[in-house]
Amino acid sequence: MTKVRILANDGLHEDGILLLNEAGYEVITEREEQNNLPNVLPDFDVILVRSATKVRQDLIDACPNLKVIGRGGVGLDNIDVKYAKEKGIEVYNTPSASSKSVAELVFGHLFSLSRSLHLANRQMPAQGESQFKALKKSYSKGVELRGKTLGIIGFGRIGCEVAKIGLGLGMNVMAVDPFIDKSTIQLDFAGMPELHLSIDIHTTSKEKMLEKADYITLHIPKLDEPVIGEKEIEKMKRGVILVNASRGGMIDEDLLMRSLDSGKIGGIGLDVFDGEPIPKVALLNHPKISVSPHIGASTGEAQANIGRELAEKIIHFFEG
Ligand code: NAD
Repeated sequence: MTKVRILANDGLHEDGILLLNEAGYEVITEREEQNNLPNVLPDFDVILVRSATKVRQDLIDACPNLKVIGRGGVGLDNIDVKYAKEKGIEVYNTPSASSKSVAELVFGHLFSLSRSLHLANRQMPAQGESQFKALKKSYSKGVELRGKTLGIIGFGRIGCEVAKIGLGLGMNVMAVDPFIDKSTIQLDFAGMPELHLSIDIHTTSKEKMLEKADYITLHIPKLDEPVIGEKEIEKMKRGVILVNASRGGMIDEDLLMRSLDSGKIGGIGLDVFDGEPIPKVALLNHPKISVSPHIGASTGEAQANIGRELAEKIIHFFEG
């Protein structure tokens, strides 16, 4: 058999490269520009991408040798999946590899907004020694997450990981998902293998959750309409804190700004934006918004999981 050739155009974690090299496959990680891919990719059996490289119908047509397209991550919107499958090409993604990392980032934003860390980080370097006391006073009204109600919209892979951390922190967790009635959250404790808890969480109606939640986080797929609009905000508690680490556009951003300014929404953590990669400047500068540049899955652990999972799927494909 000729050597399997893999172009990892958006990079691949070294754990994945190692597994593929051990299987005797050649992995190229030098990035090719999108417009040059039709010239280069015909020499490869596999292309691996994240979100940057697009694998559209015209590229697939230019590469009759292509057997596998791998996407490190969840969304497949940069790949013409249906067309690839019609051409007999396997398409793999790694949907659960980064769920824990995204869930941890959500709590990064929740903690940050609850203690004004995002503002302190912006302002302290620019202030002199004399201002220290003033900032200390400004940010002295922090709140604990413990004992508060956490509303989760979308109770899939990431939603369940968020619930797990919320339960561990002593939060009251309410989940909303029209397609799921109940999920069992498994709680394990490092260094205590004998201790294991299974907790059933039944989903509830969006209305009930919106009325009770102190914190609300979104973990839905990209939907055609925002899930948070005027009607939903109306029902929320005054001062509620939100996070969106799912997809941009799931909260109407203009409405969001108005609700932050009026105080109805107390703050929001945003990892995803409408119009990415150029978010609205007003959002980035807003004092009630904690921002991150779509880095939910960007941890060493998640990338290693992604690399290993893709490598295992590719090896299984070629070796059977
Ligand atoms: P998932 O498919 O496991 O879960 C999504 C859940 O949303 C499903 O259970 C589905 O039933 C539910 N859902 C669908 N429509 C709904 C609605 N109208 N109201 C409430 N729930 C609804 O997906 P996941 O792996 O948990 O990923 C969730 C989101 O996170 C995706 O949009 C994904 O693209 C995004 N994501 C972001 C990052 C990041 O870097 N920020 C990384 C990975 C994934």
